[in-house]
Amino acid sequence: MLITHITKSAKDTQKLGENLAKEILLSRTSQKTVASARGFGEPKATVLALRGNLGAGKTTFLQGFAIGLGIKEKVLSPTYVVMKHFNIFYHFDCYRLKDEKDVLELGWKEIISNPKNIVAIEWPERIKKALPKNIIKINFKTLTENKREIKLKA
Ligand code: ATP
Ligand code: MG
Repeated sequence: MLITHITKSAKDTQKLGENLAKEILLSRTSQKTVASARGFGEPKATVLALRGNLGAGKTTFLQGFAIGLGIKEKVLSPTYVVMKHFNIFYHFDCYRLKDEKDVLELGWKEIISNPKNIVAIEWPERIKKALPKNIIKINFKTLTENKREIKLKA
């Protein structure tokens, strides 16, 4: 499934994030839980890889996404930390990383193995080798000062 959205403001982008979070929560209450309870495959977290240039709107999108998950704390760019964690939601910003070593040290394997967790990664290209196969890919592109193209691939 590939969906392309054009947003015209930061608010639009946040709303898109909020809607995706709600969809993910809804889809989890149905078939996936049943599948993992029956033991089909390894238990897995929901993983989102957000790619795009600096200032393209990845963090902005995740602010809305967290709202959709019912998280009260405001999601900020984790400038000086690689990971921030709010309940089941894990936010990684890998911009400053060379490779996957640093995330592995943060308990990456446990985090992505827990089917309750929702893990969002900015700059996922930095940790390519650590990324699981079935992930939701979201690509951001700056079109003009306030316009962004956002492609969702799941
Ligand atoms: P970085 O790679 O540095 O982490 P980022 O992709 O996370 O960058 P944001 O921190 O979300 O980018 O910054 C996006 C900036 O662009 C914000 O200042 C936001 O207000 C502005 N902006 C303007 N229009 C839009 C839009 N349509 N969608 C998202 N952000 C927008
Ligand atoms: Mg960011």
